[in-house]
Amino acid sequence: MASLFAAFAGLVLSLSPASLPPVDTTFMVPVATTDVHSRTPAWDCERDLEVPSGLVRNREIAGAAPEGDSIVLRLLTTNDLHGALLPRTQSWSNGREVGGAAAIAGMMTRLARECGCPTLRLDDGDAMQGTPLSNLTFGRATVEAFNAMGYAAAAVGNHELDWTVDTLAARIREARFAWLTANVRTVATGARPAWAQPWRMVRAGGLKVALIGYASILTPSLVRPDNVAGLRFDGGAAIVDSLVDVARRDSAADFVILLAHEGGFCEPGGQGCRGQVFDLANALTRKPDLIVSGHTHSLVNAVVNGIPIVQARSSGTALGIVDFVVQLGGGRAARIRVETVWADREQPDTAVARVVDGFRRAVEPLTSRPVATLAEALSRGGEQHALGNLIADAYRAAARSDVALVNNGGIRADLPAGAVSWGDLFQVLPFQNYVTRLTVTGAVLRQAIAHAVGAADARAHVSGVRVSVSRGAADSVRIVTVTLADGAPLREDARYTLAVPDFLASGGSGYSMLRGQPAVNTGIVDIDAFVTYLRRARQPVRVAAESRVVNAVAP
Ligand SMILES: [Zn+2]
Repeated sequence: MASLFAAFAGLVLSLSPASLPPVDTTFMVPVATTDVHSRTPAWDCERDLEVPSGLVRNREIAGAAPEGDSIVLRLLTTNDLHGALLPRTQSWSNGREVGGAAAIAGMMTRLARECGCPTLRLDDGDAMQGTPLSNLTFGRATVEAFNAMGYAAAAVGNHELDWTVDTLAARIREARFAWLTANVRTVATGARPAWAQPWRMVRAGGLKVALIGYASILTPSLVRPDNVAGLRFDGGAAIVDSLVDVARRDSAADFVILLAHEGGFCEPGGQGCRGQVFDLANALTRKPDLIVSGHTHSLVNAVVNGIPIVQARSSGTALGIVDFVVQLGGGRAARIRVETVWADREQPDTAVARVVDGFRRAVEPLTSRPVATLAEALSRGGEQHALGNLIADAYRAAARSDVALVNNGGIRADLPAGAVSWGDLFQVLPFQNYVTRLTVTGAVLRQAIAHAVGAADARAHVSGVRVSVSRGAADSVRIVTVTLADGAPLREDARYTLAVPDFLASGGSGYSMLRGQPAVNTGIVDIDAFVTYLRRARQPVRVAAESRVVNAVAP
């Protein structure tokens, strides 16, 4: 605490030399966001959609500090980039391009220049998974871009483990920034794995800034189990508390920042926040000066337990701008805003653009390859949609199985009407899951379907069955009938072949009933199954509007 005070005092001596009270982060109050996206309380995390209103105020307010404030340190934060290294139009952007590494870097440089203060660039994880550009290089394109963008550190998100620990370790070696995570342990020894750096101290101007990483405690259920075998992700505030102590007391950090790849959602005005990151914040007794949040692709600008918390949506569409200021009267505040990255308004960083373009050219022969023509756009509206049915059909065809089940969480983009390329399809299925054929009893199949229709985070599409359900109190859903493609009812004791992503076959997303069932990995990656299925279909491809999970008719 004393050192933070000293840093503030040293920097604002000319403003109010004697009136600075000892620093207590509980007094830090972020000024309201300038980005009205936060007024959308229910963010659709899977589809990354939001209400498009209120985007216009960003520009006017950007960089306009209240009279007399002195910015001591400015943090520029991103989270959940998901490999979005190129700018993209969004459903809410009126055809304008948003994000992209070069624009983000340009915006960061502008914001640093406007401030004229020490700045740090930080990312909160899930950076590498999600686009051909990044995935076809197993994240290397993102790491190279981050190197050029001048990031100081990134948290290890759950998706950083999508390509095994060895791949992550290779990416960490290539990074000129720190990948941080404090709460992962090797089960066998209880020690941190060699690749897991818990925290680091960086310099910004004359300030010492401690950066602590924290991975989602749900990581084991979000990652292919093989990839996290032998690792455990400890929850709880004790780990963070002890590192905050070490950073402040033993290492004299002026600021302590927690990069927690945990998320949540708030009601308008930063009230009523719920989610893992807020549970963590509430449990802390040693308070960091800021928590950078991620994982839920939401806009968070809130104070919980006296700790400011920021999350800037996802896919590089927005930037978190956190100013630690000393006000004219000597009071301190963390002023936070979240601004949209309009690619057409920022001067792109040419060095970053060059890095990204090199990778883009390398993958373009593959990504630009035409695959099919769609008669209509296929978008992910609601729990059941034609795109999901189409993917489930592709799984069933690839595995030659009776039934297929694919989880909605693995369907990551919509498809436009007209010609679609390999790259377009890759955005839909970026995870490179293997199509796995299980042999299960009717009873197990029924359990899996019940999990899919009953648990909010387990929603799925099916092929080869028609399910009728009844909805009861408190959103409970009960299966009434399951009918196979030939019209026969599901028999509990019969055996069926079931095609699923290997992620579900190994029990991911709570499908524990599938783990250990007789399984054959077809060796076919989901994107290839999808491409093959669409190529073979009559062009243009028309998808019947059909609901395979329907409400049972009341008796
Ligand atoms: Zn995540």
